[in-house]
Amino acid sequence: MDLQLQDKLVVVTGSTGGIGKGIATSFLREGATVIINGRSEERVQSVTEELSAIGKVHGIAADLSNGEQADVFIGKVKGYGAVDVLVNNMGIFEVMDFTNVTDEEWMHYFNMNVLSVIRLSRAFLPDMLEQNSGRILTISSEAGVKPLPHMIPYSVSKSALISLSRGMAELAKGTNVTVNSVLPGPTWTEGVESYMKGAAEAANQELEKFTADYFKDSEPTSLIQRYATVEEVADTVVFLASKQASAINGTAQRVEGGIIRAL
Ligand code: NAD
Repeated sequence: MDLQLQDKLVVVTGSTGGIGKGIATSFLREGATVIINGRSEERVQSVTEELSAIGKVHGIAADLSNGEQADVFIGKVKGYGAVDVLVNNMGIFEVMDFTNVTDEEWMHYFNMNVLSVIRLSRAFLPDMLEQNSGRILTISSEAGVKPLPHMIPYSVSKSALISLSRGMAELAKGTNVTVNSVLPGPTWTEGVESYMKGAAEAANQELEKFTADYFKDSEPTSLIQRYATVEEVADTVVFLASKQASAINGTAQRVEGGIIRAL
């Protein structure tokens, strides 16, 4: 299937590692030009060099939880031309004890996981509407519809992204612009590796055993009973960005191996 993504300009936030880097790689394989982002100049530069072996890459370092840095990022992106696909991937997650989460920590989650997405989406959606084409894809989580008791701030932030995406899709009604959220389940990344340490500690278990028994003990409703791969999530995102997916709009696309036990 030709996904017709050649030479499209794609922005992927938080793409120096994990799912974001996987998404960037999959777009590059389809011939798109990709803007890589992460917080550290050094890491952005090294990943940009690494991915240049596959296709055309530009790197822009910015902490998107910071409004001023996000504005500078947006300006630099616009310098490369009209954005065809915005992938809001960057997000943080960790185990937290609900009763001890402070107001500041709640605000931090909102800023990192929600406002970062709002900042970029409100900058690029109007341009997409004007050019009557474009895709906004936001990485939410299965936790956005199945809140996790040990990750309530994360779950709330991911629910907000589903609502935000649907709201923006309503704004794009009748155009060729689509806006969707994507709900991965447990996917093996560096971020998950460090999450597992916290989760094992909270469950008072050895890390190795906790990780090995994770699906049996912690995610019994998963139908695949394994971590998804970064590539499985990335390829779903790339498909949603394609012309072939133009009738998929305003949805929360699950890539969670069937963990959500609802029709
Ligand atoms: P990760 O921690 O492995 O990678 C995150 C990336 O974001 C890194 O490149 C990091 O440098 C970058 N980043 C972090 N803070 C940033 C900031 N302030 N500004 C710019 N870049 C920043 O994470 P991951 O597991 O790949 O997760 C990526 C997304 O997928 C997140 O939104 C996460 O919530 C979501 N998700 C992950 C899983 C999973 O199991 N891995 C499941 C559901 C949803």
